[in-house]
Amino acid sequence: MKGVMRDVLIALVLGTVLPSTVMNVGKVLAEQGKAGDRVAETEQTVSQEPETSAPTQGSELQMLLQQEDGQAVAMGMDAYLLGAVLAEMPADFEGEALKAQAVAARTFARRAYVTGGKHGDGAVCTNYACCQAYIAPEDYLQRGGTQEDVDWVRSCVEATSDLVLTYEGALIEATYFSCSGGRTEDAEAVWGTEYPYLQAVDSPGEENAAHYRDTVWFMPEFFAGLLGLELTGNPEEWFGETEYTDGGGVDTMTIGDTLFRGTELRRLLGLRSTAFRVDAVNGEIRITTQGFGHRVGMSQYGADAMAATGADYTQILQYYYPGTRLERVEE
Ligand SMILES: [Zn+2]
Repeated sequence: MKGVMRDVLIALVLGTVLPSTVMNVGKVLAEQGKAGDRVAETEQTVSQEPETSAPTQGSELQMLLQQEDGQAVAMGMDAYLLGAVLAEMPADFEGEALKAQAVAARTFARRAYVTGGKHGDGAVCTNYACCQAYIAPEDYLQRGGTQEDVDWVRSCVEATSDLVLTYEGALIEATYFSCSGGRTEDAEAVWGTEYPYLQAVDSPGEENAAHYRDTVWFMPEFFAGLLGLELTGNPEEWFGETEYTDGGGVDTMTIGDTLFRGTELRRLLGLRSTAFRVDAVNGEIRITTQGFGHRVGMSQYGADAMAATGADYTQILQYYYPGTRLERVEE
């Protein structure tokens, strides 16, 4: 059962979390200063419906969950994090990786609450491509998850209650993703904004990840069409100079006479990451990608690999978010 659940969840879950419209650090620091106002304002405007899942013990910290009907409801942070971690990471990952995931997800949700987040009202939605994935424990059980896994993940979340990551006193952009393919990426290379704690680092031990390396093939005409180009002749001659980022991603690539950013090519071609190589083979175009996701911040598979070799969650977080501090916040 665990294996089946894991496959389902990996497909469903291990996507990417985009940063909340990567704000510049100065603005973030300014907004942090208004945290008290933000909380007060939010509490007045949000309906206080009862929680649908059993409250967990420990943290009284609140967050706002945007439901599918668009309504935001206040709920206990750890109750929310149980559903977020269940949805974002397979329950059979190492406990220390699950704890690291809980801290990253708490930091993300807390930061949205304090700064307004992507939705402007402080809420976090359940869409992994927007905010963070979330599955209510009852739905997790209904889809074949076990109570044992729910209890285990809850214990991992509660082991980190109230802990968040900060940099120079402000909550960090705690971005994470499924698998780096061996090395993570600089935030600047992907979003154009530099963060001292989101720099490329090696991420060994991910070789067993489902999308450590993938190959996709394109027929040349189809490929050109996806890029909006009219190219003819031998595809081997279409590709000009390629510049790579520190994280091993494609920074820029010239195709025909057009210069593309690696992030743009990822989007247009639907690639799993910006870390890719292109070859023309037997008249077709072969693209080999490394990793899955934006590759900025914590690698989930890398965290699991670190935990398997004995690292605890504080070491995992310090490795993927260097220079940050683990701090306790309480309401
Ligand atoms: Zn969202």
